[in-house]
Amino acid sequence: MPNIQLTFPDGSLKEFPQGVTALEVARSIGPRLASDALVARVDGRYVDLSSPIQSSAPIRFVTPSSPEALEIYRHSSAHLLAAAVLELFPDAHPGVGPPTESGFFYDFHRERPFTEDDLQKIEAKMRELAQADLPYERVNYSKEEGLKLFEQKGEFLKCELIREKAEPVFSAYRTGKFLDFCRGPHIPSTGRIKAFKLLSVAGAHWMGDERSHPLQRIYGTAFFTQKDLDAYLAQMEEARKRDHRRLGRELDLFSIQDEAGPGLVFWHPKGGLIRKEIEDFLREELLRRGYQLVFTPHVARLDLWKTSGHLDFYGANMFAPIRVEDAEYQLKPMNCPGHILIYKDRRRSYRELPLRLAEFGTVYRYERSGVMHGLLRVRGFTQDDAHIFCTPDQIESEVEACVDFAKLVLTTFGFERYQVELSARDPNQPKDYAGTLADWQRAEAALENTMRRMQIPFERREGEAVFYGPKIDVKLIDAIGRPWQLTTVQFDFMLPARFGLEYVGPDGHPHQPLMVHRALLGSVERFFGVLIEHYAGAFPVWLSPVQAVVLPVSGKHQNYARQVADALRAGGVRVELDDRQEKLNARIRDAQLQKVPFMLVVGDREAQGGGVAVRRRDTGDAGFRPLADFLRDVRELIDRRVAKW
Ligand SMILES: [Zn+2]
Ligand SMILES: [Zn+2]
Repeated sequence: MPNIQLTFPDGSLKEFPQGVTALEVARSIGPRLASDALVARVDGRYVDLSSPIQSSAPIRFVTPSSPEALEIYRHSSAHLLAAAVLELFPDAHPGVGPPTESGFFYDFHRERPFTEDDLQKIEAKMRELAQADLPYERVNYSKEEGLKLFEQKGEFLKCELIREKAEPVFSAYRTGKFLDFCRGPHIPSTGRIKAFKLLSVAGAHWMGDERSHPLQRIYGTAFFTQKDLDAYLAQMEEARKRDHRRLGRELDLFSIQDEAGPGLVFWHPKGGLIRKEIEDFLREELLRRGYQLVFTPHVARLDLWKTSGHLDFYGANMFAPIRVEDAEYQLKPMNCPGHILIYKDRRRSYRELPLRLAEFGTVYRYERSGVMHGLLRVRGFTQDDAHIFCTPDQIESEVEACVDFAKLVLTTFGFERYQVELSARDPNQPKDYAGTLADWQRAEAALENTMRRMQIPFERREGEAVFYGPKIDVKLIDAIGRPWQLTTVQFDFMLPARFGLEYVGPDGHPHQPLMVHRALLGSVERFFGVLIEHYAGAFPVWLSPVQAVVLPVSGKHQNYARQVADALRAGGVRVELDDRQEKLNARIRDAQLQKVPFMLVVGDREAQGGGVAVRRRDTGDAGFRPLADFLRDVRELIDRRVAKW
């Protein structure tokens, strides 16, 4: 047999007989690699360790420390789940079972619902099958032969997939009794799956289509070590306690009501106050930083969305048009065309640039009702949107100003950690992008130089840019370590051309301006959801809807309590007086549950001393404080928008 040459990541080259398996190659390097390797990447494709290699190629092994390892491992865990389900519930028909960002799921069609008890049995069976160390065995079928086999097994969902997607010869993987139509790759055997847990079962539909077969989706997660799994479960538990949907109800911040429709948010008075504080802060900063505030209509002629191109490439995310008199109107999914029309309304000179137009712009986007999630996925939301029109030599300073603004926003709202990603184009596919090569090079360089100059670490993601321009995304990390993508600074080489935007340059000739879309919070609704979870509802003083509550010890202290409340209110503090006929402890507990930052107890001693007994929601009793001093302390926290005090 002829030999083939395999090239390793360090550049070294080794000869092997043709048909050598990836596992044999790993063994030749060392027993450690052979036992760590999950799959191999040969000639740019992932393959099972058992697969023979037929020609010379670069090779690399995926081990638990490789970035893609967890996804592959979880995909194999999903197969293990299906194998366990089929052992216990032969009446279940598997649908699809992909890995997800934090675990995996598998969909089943079955008449009877899976119970909590069933989940435990399935998990125990998974352990048993893992212990048995069953191989993930790859089998190839011709389409006809394979389809017949799946038909005999009664797997009608799999048959639908095979008819639609299978190549003339397709692969399937066998794990115990479970055979899956699947491209792979898979880890060698079930014994490699060490730490997993089934989490929940929820309703789903075949192909996400509500008119199609109802399914039950079993969710689970898997990690390489028990320690990682435990840490994840602890974080989930922490996240459950912070769930903004529950806190939103308990603190009376917002609601989403079926009577009005899914994904449409009602801001209640307390949530509304927080939103006002968020918007006040941003408006002050916008004006300070040379933005101009604008307002644009919520609907506009459908033709506008044809010109902008949204109808073509964003149509699936838009509400259906509304017919009015002789024309069709579109509920706006984005604010950009509105700001462009303001720019275009008259001739612009280079002297007016950069022009920065900002709006709290409410947009409506179509999302399937099944994917709605509290404030995080909605159909109507308000973006803190802005569009910057500038000349090529202004872009670096504009990008820097955007990033500086984003940093201020993050720290003001109490986020200490963040990650930055730069999405660049795929240099091998120049035809896939709008704009000229020079545009892209200049914009990507501007983004990169700015990050370097500001000494902000970032990850450059080649080929991740959208077709109309490169961008920077800032992900904040919340109190329990979860990343949230909020801020975007996005170049656009398409819209200025589509709308024929111009400015008159110093040379007296028309030029096309550059356009940057930027949002700092992204969506105010989503940001509010993140903020609620980050603080677990215990907002900093400046954001708290009620900043202090005055609690008279008994009926005879009511007058003094009212004076205290009036004085604080006059001093600009949001204060409530709780003089209900309840015991003091019960009233303290209620204020505590409402996460009011300060509880001010007033009795004889406080009335005589002209002060309040301060109780903080986090650390409890803080002792006597003269009223004027307390007011000054609180004002300081409010005026400086202190996140931690
Ligand atoms: Zn699979
Ligand atoms: Zn935009």
